[in-house]
Formats: sequence, structure tokens, C-alpha cells
Amino acid sequence: MSDSERPHTTTDAGIPAPSDEHSLTVGPNGPILLQDHYVVQKMAQFNRERVPERVVHAKGGAAHGFFEVTEDVTQYTKADFLSQVGKRTPVFLRFSTVAGELGSADTVRDPRGFAIKFYTDHGNYDLVGNNTPIFFIRDPSKFSDFIHSQKRMPDTNLRSNEAQWDFWTLSPESAHQVSFLMSDRGTPRTWRNQNGYGSHTFLWENAGGEKFWVKYHFKTVQGIDTFSDAEAKSMVAEEPDFHLRDLFESIAKGDAPEWRLEMQIMPFADAPDYRFNPFDLTKVWPHGDYPPITIGRMVLDRNPENYFAEVEQAAFEPANLVPGIGPSPDKMLLGRLFSYPDTHRYRIGPNYLQLPINRPKAEVHSYNKDGAMRYSHAGNQPVYAPNSFGGPRADGSFPDTTWGVEGAEMVRHAYTLHSEDDDFGQPGTLWRKVLSDTDREHLVSNIVGHATTKVSPEIQQRVVQYWTNVDSDLGARVAAGIAGTDGGATSANGGSADSPVGTGASTGL
Ligand code: NDP
Repeated sequence: MSDSERPHTTTDAGIPAPSDEHSLTVGPNGPILLQDHYVVQKMAQFNRERVPERVVHAKGGAAHGFFEVTEDVTQYTKADFLSQVGKRTPVFLRFSTVAGELGSADTVRDPRGFAIKFYTDHGNYDLVGNNTPIFFIRDPSKFSDFIHSQKRMPDTNLRSNEAQWDFWTLSPESAHQVSFLMSDRGTPRTWRNQNGYGSHTFLWENAGGEKFWVKYHFKTVQGIDTFSDAEAKSMVAEEPDFHLRDLFESIAKGDAPEWRLEMQIMPFADAPDYRFNPFDLTKVWPHGDYPPITIGRMVLDRNPENYFAEVEQAAFEPANLVPGIGPSPDKMLLGRLFSYPDTHRYRIGPNYLQLPINRPKAEVHSYNKDGAMRYSHAGNQPVYAPNSFGGPRADGSFPDTTWGVEGAEMVRHAYTLHSEDDDFGQPGTLWRKVLSDTDREHLVSNIVGHATTKVSPEIQQRVVQYWTNVDSDLGARVAAGIAGTDGGATSANGGSADSPVGTGASTGL
């Protein structure tokens, strides 16, 4: 572009700016004048460039793409965006770490957020998942406690392994997720080389009113790939933004990452008698019980143009569920239905749904109005319902997708236990049946490395018991590693059959 073609600098009110170089002063050496509106505006706006970072999932990256239906699922759901094989819906997917701040390194050991916004014809559908099918806790009343234990301590402003193991060992329902976290899946090589899971159980309803409980699994077509603990740590120093750069550069060179959507589908009536409580977020549904079926694919093929506008201002909320899809009795999910929109109102303002990245492609006709930074208005449309003046009316053909609750008392209580529910059974299965010898060695050495870094002997004893509850061999190897007698990495035995799995001992349920 030639100099003559370049636009003039202006104030934010569009008034041509006199200079990009010099403030308005009294003589060349004199004081700066308050009437230099251009410079005052520049400084004031700079001071307001940041919005509060997300309390969790602060550091991330994202891309645009599409979701395409590849299998007819109309027998399970009437959701419009899933109504036809070949139908494509634009998506925006944000990856993130959980505990670190906005500028923190990408490759640290942490779960990864996997938050998808589908811009459907029936409004935004947000599936706000992680790269693990499970979570640390099953009741939202513990969420802030859990996060406080992971983030910086009030006195030192340092993260504390002591606090993390204290919380985990006092919360045995965390054992399954901590097993994932301490395995090599806790350090994915790239965002492209990991799966994404809806994690929660959701409710699907078809056009005939038949209901199904479902779980979403986005399987990476690139294949799972992970860093070892040492590789992940060295990448923290080498390229702290490694995942962000990898995603951006892959898409920029036309290498669009893809995921296959596989669904687990449980007939509605199976839930009460299923061997695990199907709504407990610390449990998976074993694939043998409900084999995943492939129903679609998701491709990310367009980078954001502006990080702040698209990634930092993106607001995902599990409460954005479209007709044909509903929540389930998963208590964590129900807590998140409130928590996400609440944090967005605080972080980016009450009209965050009008920001371009969050604005639905579907038309909006609501009676909500005004407030800070309101941008779109409904003109002189009636401002209340019901009204006699042609304002929007709710359409009864889009009922909520819900389940029934019969005459129960209000209580503060754990979930009812299903026949095989306990906190250590599924991580025990992971250890014994799924992990390779190398996976097991790495899991043990990662646990030992973490639990021997500024963790007191009292808590270390609880760490050993926690892993012994998962599997006695795993516990023995962790104990040896912590004691420094083994390093935990030698025995490749797949674990013993006599671990207390299934005993219900200290299940905390
Ligand atoms: P399966 O043998 O049918 O499936 C095991 C699954 O584990 C695999 O399909 C894979 O799912 C996942 N997996 C493979 N390697 C690893 C690894 N190194 N770390 C973590 N996950 C891995 O068994 P089940 O379905 O009966 O589950 C057995 C255990 O597997 C569970 O207790 C759970 O710990 C774990 N698991 C189960 C999942 C499920 O939804 N059923 C999902 C993930 C793990 P994927 O491709 O989704 O990663």
C-alpha cells in the first residue's frame, strides 16, 4: 500500500488526529495540555484494554470450523442441527488450560478445556467439555474449594502441591480424574492430538417424545499424542505458547484438524438400574455397555482474526441447549448452568451475548432490554409479555427437554449408590486394563514427582493410601517412589486382583 492510500489516524470518534508523534505542548519543551483530547483518549483507553481474565480456563486458543452430520440420528433427537446427514453447522472451539493465568505456559500438567459453540438455526448450542470424560468432583458446592486448592495460595501467591494432594486425598471421588491428570494424557502434545468429551450426561429427545441419555466423545483424527513429563516441562521454557502456535500455524498452512463425534446412547429407562450412577461426573459408561456410534465430524479450518474479539470475549455456557437436547440430573452440570452466564455478566458485561463472537446466527426476539453496552435494540417493539401489540410469543412446539421427579424431599445428600458405584473401581480398571506398561511407569513417576515436591510426610501417607485404594500394586509403587527406594518406575506388573476396588471402602459417596 502506498503512503497516499493509507487511512488517516483518527480519534475513536473519527476525528482526524493531528500527529502520531507529538503531544500538544506549550512550546516544544513546555507542559502537555489537557485539551489534547487525542492523547488523553489514547492513554485512557490503554488503561482499560483488559477485561478480567477467566477465573478458570484463562489461557487458551480457538478456531472456527464446522460440524457435519454423517449418520441419521433422528431416531434419538429432534435437534435441528443434527436433523439431516450432510447438514453443516458453523462452530467455534476454544481449547484451554485450567489452573494457569492468561499468560501461563501451555504444556503444563492440567486438564484441557474443549468448549464448542455451535451456531445452529435454533440458536447457539454450547458443549463446554474437557479432554477427559470425567471430572474431579461430582457436586458443584465443592467447585470453588477444588479450584482454590489448585490455584495460588493466599499468603505466598504460590501454587501448592500440598494443598492439591490434601484436597484430592480428602475427596476420594477425584481418584479417577487425578489418574488421567497424572498420566501422560495430562500433558497432550498439541490441542490437535487430544480427544474432547462433553463429559456430562445429557438428555436427547426425538420428535416422537422418546428420550435417551447420551454422552459425547470427540475423537481426534490426528491420533492421541502426548508429551512425557520431561518433554512438557522443557517445552514450558522453550515455547510457552506451544499449543497456541501449533493450532494457529497448522490451520494457517491448510492442515485443518478434525474430530469424529462418537455418541454413547442409553435408553431413558436404563438409568435407574445401570450398574453405575449414569449422572455421576466422576464415572464413564464403559464402552462395552454402551458402544460409541459415530454420528458426525468436526473440522477447524479458520483462525480467529482478532484474539481479543473472538477468543477473549468468547462466552460459552452449558445452559445454551437447543430444542431436542436437555440437561440431566448431573449435579455438576446443573451447577454450571448457573455459573457460566453469571461469570460472563461479571467479566464481559450483561450484554455479552451481543458481542459478535457470541451473537447467535438465529434471530433474537426477547423482552430483555437495555443495560451497559447494549448494542442491538428492538426498536419500538412492545417491552412486555403478554401484549396485544404484535410482540414475540413463545412457541409451545419447543418444550423443554426434561425428566420427571416424583414427590421427593429436599435434602443435602450424595447420589444414590448404584450396584458398582465406588470411587476407586474405574481408575483401578484404567490402571489394570487400559494403560500400557509404559503408561503405568509414567503415571507412577508423575505422581511421585508431584507428591515429593513440597508435600509433607503426613499428606504423602494419604497419597499412598489413595493410590492403594485404586490398586494395591499402584499404591506399592507410589510408596516405593516416595520413599526413594524405587523411583516407582520398575515394576511393569499390571496390578493385583486383590486391590480394594469395589469394596466401597472410603468411597465418600
Ligand atoms: P475400553 O477398553 O472399552 O475403553 C478404554 C478406553 O480408554 C479407550 O477406548 C480409550 O478411550 C481410553 N484410553 C486408552 N488409553 C488411555 C490412556 N492411556 N489413558 C486414558 N484413557 C485411555 O474400556 P471401558 O470403556 O470399559 O473403560 C475402561 C476404563 O477406560 C475406564 O474406567 C476409564 O478409566 C477409561 N476410559 C473409558 C472411557 C469411556 O468412555 N468408556 C473413555 C476414556 C477412558 P478414548 O479413545 O475415549 O480415550
